[in-house]
Amino acid sequence: MNEFMERKVKLKWYEPKSTYDVIIIGGGGHGLSTAYYLATRHNITNVAVLERKYIGGGNSGRNTTVIRANYGIPEAVRFYQRSLDLYNTLEQETDRYMMYATKGLFWMSHTEAGLRREYARAEMNKAFGANTEYVTPKQIKEIVPQIDLSGGGAYPVLGASYHPQGATARHDRVNWALAEGANQRGVHIHQRIEVLDMLKQGERVVGVKTDQGDMYAPIVMSATGGHVTAIGKMAGLRLPIRTHPLQAYVTNHYEVDTFKSIVASTDLTFYISQTARGEMLIGAEIDPQPSFNYRADHRLLQTCSLRAMTLFPFLRKLRILRQWTGLCDMSPDYSPIMGKTDVDGFYITTGWGTWGFKAIPAGGETMAQLIATGETPELIAPFALSRFREDRTKADRGSAGTH
Ligand SMILES: Cc1cc2nc3c(=O)[nH]c(=O)nc-3n(C[C@H](O)[C@H](O)[C@H](O)COP(=O)(O)OP(=O)(O)OC[C@H]3O[C@@H](n4cnc5c(N)ncnc54)[C@H](O)[C@@H]3O)c2cc1C
Repeated sequence: MNEFMERKVKLKWYEPKSTYDVIIIGGGGHGLSTAYYLATRHNITNVAVLERKYIGGGNSGRNTTVIRANYGIPEAVRFYQRSLDLYNTLEQETDRYMMYATKGLFWMSHTEAGLRREYARAEMNKAFGANTEYVTPKQIKEIVPQIDLSGGGAYPVLGASYHPQGATARHDRVNWALAEGANQRGVHIHQRIEVLDMLKQGERVVGVKTDQGDMYAPIVMSATGGHVTAIGKMAGLRLPIRTHPLQAYVTNHYEVDTFKSIVASTDLTFYISQTARGEMLIGAEIDPQPSFNYRADHRLLQTCSLRAMTLFPFLRKLRILRQWTGLCDMSPDYSPIMGKTDVDGFYITTGWGTWGFKAIPAGGETMAQLIATGETPELIAPFALSRFREDRTKADRGSAGTH
């Protein structure tokens, strides 16, 4: 967090203690949200969030901020719908403006197979509590007048699934509001403390070794985004996670507030929305090669812009202003991994891949409930790590906006 924001966001900095009830590794959205819900819902405040850089400096401050619940499997629809509902009241609850804006989200279909897929998504979503409808090209054009329905001749728009609740929120503000809410109730947030190893008694994790000394707690939770495999290894776990870079970029500003929706195309593997400043914000698919590389490359700009211009020719007149990269913790079935692990005292929330920003409230709420009660909430039971050895994977190709 920079000096300017430090003055705006009211955080109290504490000296690190040697013991806590809960240690959370990672000051991204999921770590902060878990701390927030522990404090607000369970009155558990003897909690430390350890962040090696600054809060929200990982993926929770690098994403394209899309919030939606139109997922591909019932378990995910229910979970993300809960998150959407929590997001809807989070500004009021925290008394912080997060620029939460309901915009509606389209997933375009360009082929007969795409038509069937999006139609099926709409029906399945409705059956499990998310509001998604199938819409015609004429209806799309009314809401997104900039679209070229012919798709340059190669990708004609035949229809789309439309999720009216699709939204965006300012990512930093979400992180800061949750941090403040937890901190005001006594949670210690420690920036620039890096966890180097786990402290163990026998097979049980009893604390963490950091670059500023040892800290003990009966429960240690990892919420470390793309770095979870390193943390898992410290605890003695080999996690089914591959880390892939994901890039995004913004253009200079287009007529402010004229592009009101979020549009995604699985066939063209891109999605687009407009920021409050008027920039066009464009995202794509993960880099295919797993790595921990934060480098942003020109190839992505070229290929993704070409695909985006197929549907939105007006983009040709804009300039690219900024590009950045984050690291995504991808699980084999594209679903999150949440809960206890085989290592006593060690909990994880991971596998958030390219879709974990929208999950921040429900992820934190359910992990807090698990920590406070010892019981796995029904909402996240399907996402236990044990599903991989029990052959109960939750394959969800609807998890990323580009598949
Ligand atoms: C370009 C991009 C676009 C995206 N777009 C969307 C989107 O539109 N919608 C959506 O829902 N999701 C999106 N995502 C995904 C989303 O951002 C992530 O899934 C989510 O932010 C993960 O949150 P987290 O709290 O698990 O991890 P992070 O926010 O990455 O936080 C983890 C923190 O752990 C810290 N850490 C790591 N190791 C240690 C250690 N040893 N000691 C102490 N601290 C440590 C890191 O510094 C980091 O701050 C996108 C991601 C990227 C990269």
